[in-house]
Amino acid sequence: MEKYAVIVAAGSGLRMGTNLPKQFLLIHKKPILWYTLHVFLKSFKEIRIILVVSGEYFDAGRAISDEMVSVNPIQTVTGGETRFDSVKNGLSLVKEKSVVFVHDAVRCLVTPSLIHHCYEETLRFGSAIPCVDSKDSIRIVQPSGHQSVKRTEVKLVQTPQTFFSDILVPAYQTDYQETFTDDASVVESAHHNIHLVEGDSNNIKITTPLDLAIAEKLLDPPQPAV
Ligand code: C5P
Repeated sequence: MEKYAVIVAAGSGLRMGTNLPKQFLLIHKKPILWYTLHVFLKSFKEIRIILVVSGEYFDAGRAISDEMVSVNPIQTVTGGETRFDSVKNGLSLVKEKSVVFVHDAVRCLVTPSLIHHCYEETLRFGSAIPCVDSKDSIRIVQPSGHQSVKRTEVKLVQTPQTFFSDILVPAYQTDYQETFTDDASVVESAHHNIHLVEGDSNNIKITTPLDLAIAEKLLDPPQPAV
């Protein structure tokens, strides 16, 4: 089965407190996005990568993808105002029946093993959404007050959110709604079931300076080409 990875890298990353969007920050002298692309190419040699970047950082995204050794050239498209718009733009380049991974560029600690697991589960169930348990207690906050919920009834959702293209692409042919916080919520609103799989607690979304420090510890420096 053909495989596509839509890597969304068009966010501005305001929570990091830097001018540069976080996917372009350097770890061991390479941008975060470089590591993310590298893991997908390592997972499946023939995967087709669609990189979504903002207009402002289009050339920067191109320069990083040009560095990658890939069987199929990495395609670059411009993102939109929301993550939903960025994914939608990326999906416009998915042309054949395939398994599609949608992945946050800022989750550079994703592993080939999680990517392979999502692929296999998608072949069986049509989708695979990696989730982990919460380590913290959880409270729901409403205008009327707040209450605790059972931790075991809550999952933290990660990417790559993975689907058959004939489920994901039509689901995105809709207008943005505020409830669309990820790809699973878009597909669910098109009346498809969502299949949850075990994620990886290291697969963090780099959002704050602490996350960056963790990624620096966990990532090996890139090996020079021989
Ligand atoms: O903003 P958030 O942390 O949820 O972003 C998750 C991923 O989606 C990031 O990799 C970010 O670059 C991407 N994104 C995007 N287009 C947007 C907003 C976010 O590609 N408009």
